[in-house]
Amino acid sequence: MLEIKNLHVKLQEEDKQILKGVDLTVEAGKVHAIMGPNGSGKSTLSYVLSGRDGYEVTDGSATLMGEDILDMEVEDRAAAGLFLAFQYPVEIPGVGNMTFLRTAVNAQRKARGEDEMSAAEFLKVIREKAKSLQIDAEMLKRPVNVGFSGGEKKRNEILQMAMLEPKMCILDETDSGLDVDAMKLVSEGVNALRNEGRSFLVITHYQRLLDHIKPDVVHIMANGRIIKTGGPELALEVEHNGYADLMAEEA
Ligand code: ADP
Ligand code: MG
Ligand code: MG
Repeated sequence: MLEIKNLHVKLQEEDKQILKGVDLTVEAGKVHAIMGPNGSGKSTLSYVLSGRDGYEVTDGSATLMGEDILDMEVEDRAAAGLFLAFQYPVEIPGVGNMTFLRTAVNAQRKARGEDEMSAAEFLKVIREKAKSLQIDAEMLKRPVNVGFSGGEKKRNEILQMAMLEPKMCILDETDSGLDVDAMKLVSEGVNALRNEGRSFLVITHYQRLLDHIKPDVVHIMANGRIIKTGGPELALEVEHNGYADLMAEEA
């Protein structure tokens, strides 16, 4: 599904190397978790994959289902099936949540050469999905994320994901700022989307999210590289011992 090889990334404006040779392969249908100390480059990795400005790839490659994504425009990456749930969801004043989602869904359909979703069908689908995430009709009418609580913003990210039905879902610290109930709700939303043709990259600081979203593979990222890969037990090890031992091992 996703194959990242020797990815090196620096900031465009500064001479600062952030990713220093990331290798990562995510198979179709699998859930991979990335954990790691603050500042290790986890968000940068998700931004570079999804096409945010401000970064320069200096070496390496990233392909989605065999296609080079690093040269694609943002909207083409999305149409190809990539989705990022932001660590800090963006507020978009003046743009209704529902209008935003309908435009996004239809833009993607158009890019794939598919027919638009009818207004009636869209309404039916969004109401169903919003309900399961406990997002009420009023929240769908408000401008995107404006005045939403932290938890509402994160649930709204999952609603976007559910509506767009991406192939490769990247979740950047979706659990941060969520209380226990909201975390369960978000996890259920994610688990409902799991299938053999869809993959997830779940970036998190905490093992507790991985109690709900059970990963197949866990990676530890530090200082711009993946320093260790293992099974779910690796997340437990980190929860108990922190990152210091792993980083010393790597050094
Ligand atoms: P993580 O998500 O693992 O906490 P980030 O990818 O956010 O890490 O950041 C990695 C490093 O890159 C940090 O040292 C951060 O300060 C730096 N960094 C990322 N983006 C920028 C930026 N636009 N300007 C300056 N420093 C940045
Ligand atoms: Mg961070
Ligand atoms: Mg981050």
